[in-house]
Amino acid sequence: MVSILPRRFPCFTTLVLGLLVTMPGAAGAASMHRYTITVDAAIREVDVRACFDGAPPRHLAAESLDASAALLEVRIEDTGKRLEPNGPELDLRSVPADGCVRYRASLLMQGGRHQRSSGVARRVGPDVVTDAGIWLWRPPSLAQDEEVELRFALPEGMSVSAPWRPQRDAHGRVEAYRLGHAVYDWPAAVAFGTFQQREIAVGEARLRVAVLHGAPRVEWELVRQWLTRSAEAVSTLYGRFPLDDVQVIVVPGARGDEPVPSAFVLRGGQPAVYFFINQRKPLADYLVDWTAVHEMAHLLLPHVRPEDAWLSEGVASYYQNVLRARAGMISEQEAWQRMHGSFRRAMRGMPGTTLADATERMYRDGAYMRVYWHGAALMLMADQRLRARTRGAQSLDRVLHGLQACCLDGAQVWQASVLFDKLDELSATNVFSELYAQHVTAARFPDLTETYDELGLGLNASGEIVSVLPRAAHSDDRDAIMRAPASLR
Ligand SMILES: [Zn+2]
Repeated sequence: MVSILPRRFPCFTTLVLGLLVTMPGAAGAASMHRYTITVDAAIREVDVRACFDGAPPRHLAAESLDASAALLEVRIEDTGKRLEPNGPELDLRSVPADGCVRYRASLLMQGGRHQRSSGVARRVGPDVVTDAGIWLWRPPSLAQDEEVELRFALPEGMSVSAPWRPQRDAHGRVEAYRLGHAVYDWPAAVAFGTFQQREIAVGEARLRVAVLHGAPRVEWELVRQWLTRSAEAVSTLYGRFPLDDVQVIVVPGARGDEPVPSAFVLRGGQPAVYFFINQRKPLADYLVDWTAVHEMAHLLLPHVRPEDAWLSEGVASYYQNVLRARAGMISEQEAWQRMHGSFRRAMRGMPGTTLADATERMYRDGAYMRVYWHGAALMLMADQRLRARTRGAQSLDRVLHGLQACCLDGAQVWQASVLFDKLDELSATNVFSELYAQHVTAARFPDLTETYDELGLGLNASGEIVSVLPRAAHSDDRDAIMRAPASLR
């Protein structure tokens, strides 16, 4: 599911060029700017002290168009001189080397103010989710050896949940965050409050989970089992969760028949997952639901530009069934049937429209089926061709593992065609560029007859029911798709 878009959807190029030259990490940054962020007990304002290491940047930038309206007062600490923002920029040329600025910014969301900020900002009982783009004035870009460290000074009992890279003390507790060289143009959700905050270990990886207040209160055990199971399902791809440390925000109180009526991945700062749940639903409903597996499967890819959302949604949609079958949440037969049913619905959507055009229209019209499942069909075809042509040596799992090692970190925004070239390189095949040429610019949903034949998937007379044929040529490949590698079982 997706309902959050990057803030400046069509204008990526300048941003990408600005950030591509930088690299993640900077553990031994030569230049470390230090921010201390104080929040009042009522969570109305932040008071930020930003101290620069050496020469300050020429200006600070905030992501949201509403940031200058939310900015209450900025002063140079030494002289008390007041600074005024110019739109989303704050000129620092009068700040001395090693100097500090202090500013206050409003977190209140009243009367339509901050409406343009994003869909993430909200009050949830006594807790507040902010979009950091409203209140975080940061250097517009960081040099390779430059970092910003963020520390929070909070009232007794208050917690913060933030997406940036956590810095941990000797006991593993988060004591600060590093801003890093990340994607900035998406919302970054930062929650303040007295919510439940705990960590879930998934192998070596950690989910930092904030469960906001709700009535009835959300049972931690429900969240723990649901997210652990979903994350472990995603870990069946290549034996580890794709990212080391991920922010997760769970907002209770959603209505609807499903346990997780809405969810999305945010990429501001670092990738994070945001869930709206109906906490009245029983644990059993959560343990078979596809949403968390789908959202976490988004973390298998780096940031793909929104014009190519068919690729990120295709991967997430393909794997939402495959991974649930591997984890025993649904049967293999059910996984194939669900996939087939979605392909059939998608086939009827937007006839005569290319995938690129359908993706553009998806944002306008909300017609998701064609885009998600056309993308998922390409992933099924890729997985089948990789396995068949390399006699099982390659698979979509393996290629994505290669991508994890080379390309998941950092601020690059990928075009689908460039990412497909990378996947060809990683698999030493031309499967992806071939699929791109055949099916991305074609004005129809891919014909899956050959793929089904190769995998030994049969259809009934009406074409609605898919069945697994026992003695097909490549039934091993088909079975391998739905089963975790033996070493992981
Ligand atoms: Zn999605």
